[in-house]
Amino acid sequence: MSLSIPFLNLRSTYDELSAEIDQAYHRVMDSGWYILGNEVTLFEQEFAAYCGAEHCVGVGNGLDALHLIMRAMGIGEGDEVIVPANTYIATILAVIYTGATPVLVEPSLNTYTLNPALVEKAVTSRTKAILPVHLYGFPADMDPINAIAREHSLKVIEDAAQAHGTSYRGRRAGTLGDAAGFSFYPGKNLGAFGDGGAVVTNDGEIADRVRVLRNYGSRVKYQNETIGYNTRLDEMHAAVLRIKLRKLDEWNDRRRALADYYLNGLKGLDLVLPEVPSFGEHIWHLFVVRSADRDNLQKKLAAAGIGTMIHYPIPPHLQPACAYLGLSQGTFPITEAIHREVLSLPMGPHLLQSEVQSVIDTAGRCL
Ligand SMILES: *Cc1c(COP(=O)(O)O)cnc(C)c1O
Repeated sequence: MSLSIPFLNLRSTYDELSAEIDQAYHRVMDSGWYILGNEVTLFEQEFAAYCGAEHCVGVGNGLDALHLIMRAMGIGEGDEVIVPANTYIATILAVIYTGATPVLVEPSLNTYTLNPALVEKAVTSRTKAILPVHLYGFPADMDPINAIAREHSLKVIEDAAQAHGTSYRGRRAGTLGDAAGFSFYPGKNLGAFGDGGAVVTNDGEIADRVRVLRNYGSRVKYQNETIGYNTRLDEMHAAVLRIKLRKLDEWNDRRRALADYYLNGLKGLDLVLPEVPSFGEHIWHLFVVRSADRDNLQKKLAAAGIGTMIHYPIPPHLQPACAYLGLSQGTFPITEAIHREVLSLPMGPHLLQSEVQSVIDTAGRCL
């Protein structure tokens, strides 16, 4: 009686909403209008309202959202942007695209997010922005980060790609800095059936610039006021996201209940469990534990039919793509230890409590 518990089953989100999604598909197909139409406009209004922000601009993916925010802020060559050393590489690529230099900073080991004390030390006369990542769905400690930014006149950009509905001291991701980049990659808490992303901000100027940049630098068709890009959220994806957005809080609640179940059931095992400081509300994009014997644990769980993932196996500074930064092994010991030890257990709104119990039981036998 072997188990079969996938790390994440994306098909279930379609199954739950297929009637509405199929209807939306036909509505968009019948409209004859497939790029930058009503669905995108309505989704932008609805997602801005959900975040409690004034503006939302749909773009092609989360990486472009972050890149366009920095372009809109005028960040470029000669500038520095402070980023966490342990993040998905997209955060760092977005900085590199602008021509600026990413300055990597160690995270706090207990929350995996930027350590404000180390951020302060990394500020130089070239620093233009701080780019905290709400990694795994828990917010970075934004008050001290915003205080440092104010003191040095820096912009704050949230990487909210894993933080749809995450809140910090009662305010949602998307309103915790100058602008935020969201991703709607299928596996995110709010995911499309393809690539998508959005910029969320209370700054009307940034929103306006991103709107022009995403569409060939054009406000009026065939008039190009600046060197722009082609990175737009598609109508079809926006129509689906509007349906899924109505479910997001419920789905995040279900993740929270499963996370509580995990936290309770895994207590006492030889694992480091996620911490949830009271300043933030976790949306459990990922449920990440640490084990000194991670690879072995992952193998044993796989042999028992339980899918897990590692977020992420190689830190960005040790990727060949970032070799030019000259940051060798040993530069970021906390980040490197995190990458050696983290394991993401199955998590999602359609995972069953009985499946979580099976993961707990199996982990108990493996450790
Ligand atoms: C997914 C993700 C991104 C990039 O989003 P895409 O839509 O895949 O481009 C950026 N940062 C983090 C932390 C992510 O998890």
